[in-house]
Amino acid sequence: MQKGYDLRQVRRQYYLIAGLIAVLLLGACGGRSPEPAPTLEVVPTATAVPAPTSEPQPTPTETAIALSPICSPLAEHEIATLLSLYLTQPFIPPQGANKETGHHGLDFAYYSGGPTGGHINGTPIQSMLDGVVAGMGYNAVYGYYLITETPFALLPAELAEHYEAGADESLYMLYGHMQQPAPLAQGDTVTCGQVVSYVGNSGSQQFSSDPHLHIETRVGAAGQRLAETAYYTADATEAQKAEYLRWRTSDEFRLMDPTILLVYTLRE
Ligand SMILES: [Zn+2]
Repeated sequence: MQKGYDLRQVRRQYYLIAGLIAVLLLGACGGRSPEPAPTLEVVPTATAVPAPTSEPQPTPTETAIALSPICSPLAEHEIATLLSLYLTQPFIPPQGANKETGHHGLDFAYYSGGPTGGHINGTPIQSMLDGVVAGMGYNAVYGYYLITETPFALLPAELAEHYEAGADESLYMLYGHMQQPAPLAQGDTVTCGQVVSYVGNSGSQQFSSDPHLHIETRVGAAGQRLAETAYYTADATEAQKAEYLRWRTSDEFRLMDPTILLVYTLRE
């Protein structure tokens, strides 16, 4: 009997333990509310990282400087054609001590049979380079002229070598004998190919007897500006004459052959 009792007691204990386990399991698996599952919702932040693009974004210090293109100074004319057909007077460096002698630029002209069958007079003059207006006005030698400045930093390094230019120097370009003043002011930006005036015959007949374009290049420190200039005419002021000589004969603007620039565009 004792043994049977023991057996019942063991069985009761077994059920008791089994019941307790069942209660515990229920509590763990469903008897209580489960903890909330972690949310998958993406909370936007103020410092969102942009989606990667196909090309790496350059930092400001890595931004490349866009070099200036080189355009023909005359609309409708390739540079090669200008040099082969329409160059009427080449560059002639000053002879001896007098820096006013020689021909300081290149002249282009035709009197019939141009691309449109006519006269060069009135053909649009285009800026050859990107730059800014460094001077403009009128004098007997150049007629209506425009001077632009292009830092050599905006030009191919090879061209700076040809022009024997220093790192902080600029290429100054003059366009002369224009029909009318450029519709620009000092400091205005100009872009390659921009029409700045038209071929004319302005200036003294001593220096321009027929319509033609005169272009001139000089090298000097960056940022130079020219005030009004005048040749040695009766009505010229000393300041105007001094400014004229500053451009023509001073070391501030070293005279260079414009052929360097034109021929550079023809390289292979
Ligand atoms: Zn000339």
